[in-house]
Amino acid sequence: MAKSIDAPSYYTATATPSPRHPGLAGEASADVCVIGAGYTGLSAALELAEAGYRVVVLEQETVGYGASGRNGGQVCTGFSSGQGKIEAQLGRDDARRCFALAEESKTLLKQRLVRHSIDCDLAWGYLHTIVKPHQMDELKAWKDEYDELGYDGTTILGKAELEEKLATRIYHGALRDPGAGHFHPLNYCLGLARAAVAAGAIIHEQSRALSVEMGPPAVVRTGAGSITAKFLVIAGNAYLGRTVPKLAGRVMPVASYIIATEPFGENRARALIRDGEAVANTKFIVDYYRLTKDTRLLFGGRASYSTLEPPSLATYMRPRMTAVFPQLRDVKIDYAWGGYIAITSNRIPDMGRLAPHVYYAHGYSGQGVALAGLYGKLMAEAVRGVAERFDLLAKIRHLPFPGGPLRTPVLVAAMLYYRLRDALS
Ligand SMILES: Cc1cc2nc3c(=O)[nH]c(=O)nc-3n(C[C@H](O)[C@H](O)[C@H](O)COP(=O)(O)OP(=O)(O)OC[C@H]3O[C@@H](n4cnc5c(N)ncnc54)[C@H](O)[C@@H]3O)c2cc1C
Repeated sequence: MAKSIDAPSYYTATATPSPRHPGLAGEASADVCVIGAGYTGLSAALELAEAGYRVVVLEQETVGYGASGRNGGQVCTGFSSGQGKIEAQLGRDDARRCFALAEESKTLLKQRLVRHSIDCDLAWGYLHTIVKPHQMDELKAWKDEYDELGYDGTTILGKAELEEKLATRIYHGALRDPGAGHFHPLNYCLGLARAAVAAGAIIHEQSRALSVEMGPPAVVRTGAGSITAKFLVIAGNAYLGRTVPKLAGRVMPVASYIIATEPFGENRARALIRDGEAVANTKFIVDYYRLTKDTRLLFGGRASYSTLEPPSLATYMRPRMTAVFPQLRDVKIDYAWGGYIAITSNRIPDMGRLAPHVYYAHGYSGQGVALAGLYGKLMAEAVRGVAERFDLLAKIRHLPFPGGPLRTPVLVAAMLYYRLRDALS
């Protein structure tokens, strides 16, 4: 039986009609084989195909099946870890370069939407809300950090000011970021796939990479064929499982769930979020939400390390939504789904080489909507022999997660600790 995390989403119901891509059958060769048709893999494929490389993308399900087709659609600024952890490893100047790259990821996204005529309802404006008065100091420090980085335009809103914009009384303030926003994530992913194919890349859906021989050349086998390639780009993220055992302990899949209400109509929708910003709170286990183009509230949250799925995602998520907006007690939930976020131990994305011709990037830790496109592009640069920017991000160190039979219990315990900490702080 299909898991409810895979239930049809608001995104699949409103997806831009797109061609399907035949599965791999038989043996073939390529300059580059990419595993995974999410933002990371498709971005690398697009760049490399445009540069004249013969690129084959293997996707175990369909384009955007993973996190890229089912996320909250929030286009964020910077890294999930914040700047401090990056600066602690790389020093101030390189950490600033990393922030500049994160900014570039948003520019890249915008450019691609225009260049490839991708329609995905992009809207700007983001509110990072706080649930305790003392967190105002965190917001001020955050704004100071942005100011110091030269990232202009953020403002701090007090409780009263925020309540004029957002129809809830549970927050004590927010940091407003005009340079972050939201969009339809699956339509962006499908658009990237169209652009990659137009540039000459070949995508095979329903083609799970079952085994990988690093080579050189790299040989990737599926159930029905194989690709022999000079370069390999591994972009399976939380969905890769143990396909490449060396990568398995480097990220932890965390489940997150989303509901989409029935449409409210423009007036009621604007009464909820007056200016249509994306919203997230600053707890460890975030709620994230936004309005859709057709005036629904799309509300996500509830990270879970446990592989046990709640019996009804809608019933599970509704109280979370009504805790923020009690006035939505009676609204109908039209869609409920979920997906796996790949987190790293320090919440900084993990990119590197497994061999001189084998590249990987994953673990955007809940903030990959913009970043993954850039990481894909940097892997493409490295394949082309220009690895300076790749090497800057690849030198960040990551502790692997514990493996073996204790992996899940240890992480469930860690999660409980963070929930308790959020509740008590
Ligand atoms: C519920 C949810 C909400 C999120 N919300 C946000 C948000 O609001 N903002 C934000 O910035 N980020 C968010 N994220 C994270 C963001 O979606 C990801 O960081 C980003 O999509 C990662 O892209 P990717 O291409 O690296 O991975 P994915 O999109 O997961 O793509 C990996 C692909 O590889 C395929 N694959 C894996 N193994 C194999 C194999 N062996 N053979 C062939 N194919 C394989 C998978 O099927 C999948 O399609 C969210 C994620 C989830 C799950």
